Amino acid sequence: MNDGAHDHKVMDGRLVAQGVLDRAQSKVERLKRERGVTPCLATVLVGNDPASATYVRMKRKRCADIGMTSLPVEMPAATSTDELVSEIRRLAQDASVNGILLQHPVPGHIDERAAFEAITPAKDVDGVTATGLGLMWLGLNVFGSCTPAGIMSLLQAYAVDLAGKHAVVIGRSPILGKPMAAMLLEANATVTITHSRTRDIGSLVRQADVIVAAVGKAHFVKGDWVKPGAVVVDAGYSEGNKGDVDYDAAYARASLITPVPGGVGPMTIATLIEQTADAALRQHGLM
Ligand code: NAP
Repeated sequence: MNDGAHDHKVMDGRLVAQGVLDRAQSKVERLKRERGVTPCLATVLVGNDPASATYVRMKRKRCADIGMTSLPVEMPAATSTDELVSEIRRLAQDASVNGILLQHPVPGHIDERAAFEAITPAKDVDGVTATGLGLMWLGLNVFGSCTPAGIMSLLQAYAVDLAGKHAVVIGRSPILGKPMAAMLLEANATVTITHSRTRDIGSLVRQADVIVAAVGKAHFVKGDWVKPGAVVVDAGYSEGNKGDVDYDAAYARASLITPVPGGVGPMTIATLIEQTADAALRQHGLM
């Protein structure tokens, strides 16, 4: 049942993402035409994690697909926090770089927060800085964290009205659960944030009109946790193309659901690309 293209219950992330990428491409063409500039996303990858390398490759491929350049920065696993911070500061000062992506997670000995904070807000196209997260909670105009911002675009594309709905977010990471909760709140949902210390999580999820699973544990959300008619968004990814939601069981009860793969993932990448184009437009006085 993962075939999004022909199923009215399935939110087709690939299809909606293509629309976002088309919009980004027009922005890139405008920059070339009016400023003679090709926008550039710097991608910073530290260490040898194969999944992270794959994500960076996919992001760079999407840049190329729409005529944007990317600047790959690869650093060894033994890189220190100071070395990473100074590399990111260098990119932040490089006028030919419009956006900076630091692929998460970095090796455990590095202070990831310090590295994220070296990204200047104007180039924070992945929405990872403390300033960015603060602005998201204030509902102010900012580059959103890409996964939750992509989820919001997907919900909008499927005309999901969030006002007054009970949204339950599972996970509270700084790049996913927390900004997700901020954006749902800004859209006037009533938001419950759950995490590893939450008691009886199933009983909370059963009350949800909208479920966003961002845990990173395969099939964590059981089918009978899904209230009939609920909207189910699965941001999780575990090896073997498994999401955080027991898809087949949840599908039977949901009114709308994202597949894994082909749901949230393509939206995340498309959002990153469009925000890079927007950053370049702003830096060149066109937005
Ligand atoms: P993370 O930093 O590991 O955070 C996971 C969150 O889940 C934490 O807040 C944790 O709670 C919570 N959690 C863990 N076990 C739990 C349990 N038993 N019950 C309730 N909550 C529990 O992960 P992340 O970076 O947010 O990513 C989450 C998932 O999304 C992963 O599968 C990742 O691969 C995926 N992801 C997908 C995309 C995409 O583009 N599709 C992008 C980013 C991430 P505590 O805070 O209490 O520890």
